[in-house]
Amino acid sequence: MTWTMLAAAAPSDWWHNTPTPGPDIDDPARFLSPVTERLLQRAAKILATPPTTHTISPHLHGAISALVATSYGYDVEHRIDPDEITWAYTHGGALHIIEHPDGSVTFTKHHREDCPFITSRGAQECDEDCYFPHPADVEREPGR
Ligand SMILES: [Zn+2]
Repeated sequence: MTWTMLAAAAPSDWWHNTPTPGPDIDDPARFLSPVTERLLQRAAKILATPPTTHTISPHLHGAISALVATSYGYDVEHRIDPDEITWAYTHGGALHIIEHPDGSVTFTKHHREDCPFITSRGAQECDEDCYFPHPADVEREPGR
């Protein structure tokens, strides 16, 4: 569903059936409400539909390319399995991707959510209180 559909599917006869604005029309809402109601309902439906795709900027695509190239090699292929994605979500901090004014990009799972580095989007230094236990230590704890 798109905004184009919103306009195209509007009741086509409203233009011809709606009287010209003027002082003799005491209640404009009587004429316009049926049209606006339908448009508002359609707009609410469009806005409630979750986006199906996320696009990334060419710059961010380049940064991910550099991350893979510098981590694994300039001509590598690296497939991430679903359990590795789950593992990454459950170990360390949340992934933050911070684009800096100088064009550099930070990919980090190092900081807690209220760390100054995260809350300032990289403008302030880390307060050095960001600590996540090593995954091997976490998995050795009883009951986990
Ligand atoms: Zn931090």
